[in-house]
Amino acid sequence: MTEFPQQSERFMRRRYLVTGGAGFIGSHLCERLLEQGHEVLCVDNYYSSSRANIEHLLTNPRFEVLRHDVTFPLYVEVDAIFHLACPASPVHYQRDPVQTTKTSVLGSINMLGLAKRLRVPILLASTSEVYGDPLVHPQPEDYWGNVNPIGIRSCYDEGKRCAETLFFDYWRQHELPIKVVRIFNTYGPRMQPNDGRVVSNFIMQALKGQRLTVYGEGAQTRSFCYVDDLVDGLQRMMRTPADVVGPINLGNPNEFTILELAKQIQSHMGVHTDIEFRPLPSDDPMQRQPVIARASEILGWTPLISLDQGLPKTIDWFSSSLVQIPR
Ligand code: UDP
Repeated sequence: MTEFPQQSERFMRRRYLVTGGAGFIGSHLCERLLEQGHEVLCVDNYYSSSRANIEHLLTNPRFEVLRHDVTFPLYVEVDAIFHLACPASPVHYQRDPVQTTKTSVLGSINMLGLAKRLRVPILLASTSEVYGDPLVHPQPEDYWGNVNPIGIRSCYDEGKRCAETLFFDYWRQHELPIKVVRIFNTYGPRMQPNDGRVVSNFIMQALKGQRLTVYGEGAQTRSFCYVDDLVDGLQRMMRTPADVVGPINLGNPNEFTILELAKQIQSHMGVHTDIEFRPLPSDDPMQRQPVIARASEILGWTPLISLDQGLPKTIDWFSSSLVQIPR
């Protein structure tokens, strides 16, 4: 089995492929890798991402961008692969659900094939959605989940579950050095303002002086991780020895109801418009909180940035970008 460098070698220059590199998390990962002196090949089809996210990286000679859809094979030479490509917000992944499943399944098959040819480590950005509407709370990695296979979220949930299956079968069958992380709700600068996610929606609504749209009674919970912490977790996972395959949860275990989040955002922004309650979308998970014992034991990782610290940074970014954002 291919050995991947240990922590001590982490500053060796490597050439990384980041699929979905122009996305919200992907662009932060590309930026971090470049800051550390690595070369980055960013692959993206811009379906739910934006060229603006990587514009500031384009002048870096170690950064290369390829417009490509991962549902088609890719022939490149790299030392390691971060496979992030897939629309991830409900609004985006439900817009073309068939394509979402294709992206997860065919995209994973193609990227695993690439990793197999090159014999390089490949990390899958999986998701807390594999737990569905969880009956076990908080969610440890050995919980198998409670997922509706035929609902409106299934294209994403089942797509990512199948991607995990593929990764583990390539590991068992072909001894491919895989890494699987399950990413819980993440927020920060460069979230797409129109992605329909709760943090971006609330901030955009508050900036426009609109009422914040809380679905259901706002009693459902989520645990929000700041993007810088998440990127650190991804890198730590990539640096682990070949016998560390995951899955490992990455998320901030501090849990909030959606109503609490709305009030926190209002208080940070000094706006106190009324809340508009709307029907809860179907299959919306009622609670979500990661158990991060594995991440902390195996990766030495724990999120450092609280919601109180991360929200102002995110709000500042949205405020300063608002001039360019269509209203
Ligand atoms: N939500 C909300 N108002 C919004 C957008 C989302 O109340 O304007 C709720 C949504 O119903 C869910 C939670 O916020 O319970 C998180 O939604 P998001 O789309 O950010 O991510 P999810 O964790 O559901 O994938």
